[in-house]
Amino acid sequence: MTGVALVSESLERAGFRHGFFLREVVPDWDEACRSLDVARARLFLASQVHGRAVVSVSASDDPTEVRRREADAVLASEAGVACATRVADCAPVLLADPESGAVAAVHSGWRGTVQGVVAAAVEALGGAAVAPRLVAAVGPLIEVCCFEVGPEVAAELAASSPLGDVVVDRSRSRPHIDLRRVVGAQLRALGVEMVEEVRGCTRCDAARFHSFRRDGAASGRLLAAIVARGPGGARFSGVTGGPVVG
Ligand SMILES: [Zn+2]
Repeated sequence: MTGVALVSESLERAGFRHGFFLREVVPDWDEACRSLDVARARLFLASQVHGRAVVSVSASDDPTEVRRREADAVLASEAGVACATRVADCAPVLLADPESGAVAAVHSGWRGTVQGVVAAAVEALGGAAVAPRLVAAVGPLIEVCCFEVGPEVAAELAASSPLGDVVVDRSRSRPHIDLRRVVGAQLRALGVEMVEEVRGCTRCDAARFHSFRRDGAASGRLLAAIVARGPGGARFSGVTGGPVVG
């Protein structure tokens, strides 16, 4: 998917079609669907409200109906069903279970991070029993260079971080948050060992990303999506390449 999306090597190795799509792709989700090799009717987004609700979807669901449900994580376990999230500075997190083939797409902004939406998604995938084998990828977000917050938000995020206050950069006049580090630490504290960082600061890099902080209400949204596959490492048709051995 070179050119239209950033990808996680770990998710690729585990056989999951996915992408953190770049800004030029987002107005045309058909292009994202083409690159994921998934029908538009099998790509599911929820109505994101900065909470911790998880919605599970299957191929028989209606994407328009699912889109009206309020949730910040979308989960699927049926091969060929795609879960997606829309972000502009918030953390997009893609989760996959290499054994069952189940996936989730999570929207974790500062409010969702404080409320533990990533924990809710891991729990919905099977919790502690599956966490050690999950593959997680955290995509482009507003990084510590740009994520300036007030002292109250800094305190809430530090409290939600297993690492505590070290996620707050206090070297400048106002606190800056390392949201990537908070979300990664939350995943590891849940038992997820494979957490890949797909780097990029949405606010710094206007050529590739939308940013609400930079563009305000006019900002578009970036799509991040992942497709469930069959269980046991079986690859869904259309995937090129093979699993890495050794
Ligand atoms: Zn930045």
